[in-house]
Amino acid sequence: MSDPGFDERGGGKPRSARSNQDNLAPLSRNSAPDAMHPRPPLFSIRRAEATSSPPDIGTVYLVGAGPGNVDLLTLRAARLLAEADVIVYDRLVGPDILGLSRVNAQRIYVGKERARHTLCQERISDLLVRLALAGKRVVRLKGGDPFVFGRGGEELETLAARGIPFEVVPGITAATGIAAYAGIPLTHRDHAHAVTFVTGHLKDGTMNLDWPMLARPGRTLVIYMGLLGLPVLTHELIAHGLPATTPAAVVQHGTLPTQRVITGTLADLSGKVFDARLEPPTLIIVGEVVRLQRALAWFDPATPRARGKGAVNGAD
Ligand code: SAH
Repeated sequence: MSDPGFDERGGGKPRSARSNQDNLAPLSRNSAPDAMHPRPPLFSIRRAEATSSPPDIGTVYLVGAGPGNVDLLTLRAARLLAEADVIVYDRLVGPDILGLSRVNAQRIYVGKERARHTLCQERISDLLVRLALAGKRVVRLKGGDPFVFGRGGEELETLAARGIPFEVVPGITAATGIAAYAGIPLTHRDHAHAVTFVTGHLKDGTMNLDWPMLARPGRTLVIYMGLLGLPVLTHELIAHGLPATTPAAVVQHGTLPTQRVITGTLADLSGKVFDARLEPPTLIIVGEVVRLQRALAWFDPATPRARGKGAVNGAD
């Protein structure tokens, strides 16, 4: 691969004719023939050897990398990383997680930044198709869970349409991982019987969300990609009926040594977060459950256990 416009590192020898487990030929030249698999006539073997056959199609593994802390990766993700020929990864995937890949695996960065799309979605999907057609075992690594605000579905649609074999490995999504590490149970029988995940992406200075639904009491809201829109979010929730005293939190770099949790109310959270100069990625949690954070916060980013667990860069 030598596409301009993105960073490639590593670069193992291409596995030109990797046998896909599912596509393994049932008969090798040394095995005994049987009724199911008769030995082919000799001339056909010679013909097959004479022509250079195209490589078997590789598989694309769409893998969730979790919220950042390498310990929160699934065993399946770790195993696939150790075996992959190529890792195609996003901005939210830290160096500790990439470090689990083979030394000679090819690493291709396709992360997106708000202002600058390193590689547009269509080109990422095309890249995955090309790598698989070249016989590579590809891990497409995404932060959190690939099916939660991760565009995993879009990439798989292209693979499915092109007949590329794929597998999906779930990851711990930011909402559950970060709530756990911040000490905020997303549901609680006394406080919230429902939880809603939304994106707080600003478009033309507004968020296109169902405010009356979000402002109903007795539920927890988790807002991904909402840092820039925080003033709009808190304003709209109050305007649609949530009390200004509703507890809310913003968590920076959840699960990582740089984790910070700022708590407040819908009325004062924006100001506090502005003063704290939080850096993305951040997650916003709104609801009565945030009150429990003071008693349940267990994760101390300053402890040796937390230190050295990677870093993420990102824009909300
Ligand atoms: N597929 C991912 C979400 C991608 S959207 C998942 O399932 O988690 C990216 C957003 O996720 C960020 O803007 C931020 O809101 C949130 N996020 C991801 N990792 C985070 C982290 N370590 N700390 C805080 N927020 C995080």
